[in-house]
Amino acid sequence: MDTKQLDNTYIANTYSRFPLVAVSGQGAVITDENGKEYIDLGSGIAVNSFGICDDEWISAVETQLRKIQHISNLYYTEPQAALAKLLCEKTGMKKVFFANSGAEANECAIKCARKYSSDKYGSGRSTIITLTNSFHGRTMATLSATGQDSMHIHFGPFLDGFNYAPANEFPAFEALCDETVCAVMLELVQGEGGVNPLDKEYVSAIAKLCSERDILLIIDEVQTGNGRTGTLYAYMQYVIRPDIVTTAKGLAGGLPMGCAMLGEKVQDTLTAGTHGSTFGGNPICAAGALSILSRIDDKLLSDVRKKGEYIKNELEGAPGVKSVSGLGLMLGIETEKDAKETALQCLEQGVIVLTAKNKVRLLPPLNIKQDELKKAIQILKGVIAQ
Ligand SMILES: *Cc1c(COP(=O)(O)O)cnc(C)c1O
Repeated sequence: MDTKQLDNTYIANTYSRFPLVAVSGQGAVITDENGKEYIDLGSGIAVNSFGICDDEWISAVETQLRKIQHISNLYYTEPQAALAKLLCEKTGMKKVFFANSGAEANECAIKCARKYSSDKYGSGRSTIITLTNSFHGRTMATLSATGQDSMHIHFGPFLDGFNYAPANEFPAFEALCDETVCAVMLELVQGEGGVNPLDKEYVSAIAKLCSERDILLIIDEVQTGNGRTGTLYAYMQYVIRPDIVTTAKGLAGGLPMGCAMLGEKVQDTLTAGTHGSTFGGNPICAAGALSILSRIDDKLLSDVRKKGEYIKNELEGAPGVKSVSGLGLMLGIETEKDAKETALQCLEQGVIVLTAKNKVRLLPPLNIKQDELKKAIQILKGVIAQ
């Protein structure tokens, strides 16, 4: 059996995969089992921040691999401590909890918010407001937090204590903010929901209300984080100071790692025994993340913004394009054509693009070369125009 047949036979049917068997790559170029090359505008869903097989990242990971791969959180390791320090220095957050994925990072945020409130106010103040059309993960708690009815079937009972507010409508948010609310959790650009950025005034108004009522502001930067939107974290483009920031996807450049960064109010909320993870903050992943994070500097971020502008300028008003949304190198393109159809035709022509709801979604490597980007966008434009 070939890879596709083996996969279809032995792997749970949870994914409808594109017809591509990836074998290797370099930077923004991926090679399949037949030697065909593709320009990658997806980064493994915003994960491969510096593309495939980035030399510095490989060397950082390999060096750590030859020292120690794992010891568990019963002991100290240097890469985990160094990474936490770097994250705190770059964000002003106070402490970090390490997990292995976005959903787990959000689980930590949910537990931390509820404990903060129960420590301070007792029971009955555990509701978390999220937005309709949000996506926060696939575990039971994060599915419950996800504001999409289509996700709230099959697996009930779901967790109580989540209420959903329509995005960008402050009065509706305010109306839900009763005395049972302990936190609000937001993606500043809804990723899976269709690359929809939140309005700045809306987010500022929420932040103000939260601070007045001691409601924690949790920002889910699992997708928007680590340079993706043109600042290190997307919240840095909004005038807010979150209490908890979660991230994952691009953090370790392709290795599984997530984290919840905890601000002043909640830095001491989680105590020994109240939360944990066997793999979380694993030294290999931490070494990978250190390599990525230390290179997301002003020059790279300015390039991310410029490349994002370049893509927007190329696509806005182009034949078949209805609108372009998003920030930095996290872009959604609404087209006359079906998005999945566009993605399949791009693949045939050697370009990898993603979809989000009815949009084509672009999440290229942050350091994609301009000539590669140009070539891929011309092909995408051609497909959309057909
Ligand atoms: C992808 C994503 C998640 C879930 O991350 P996993 O690593 O798949 O668990 C959570 N929140 C947002 C905003 C995401 O984009």
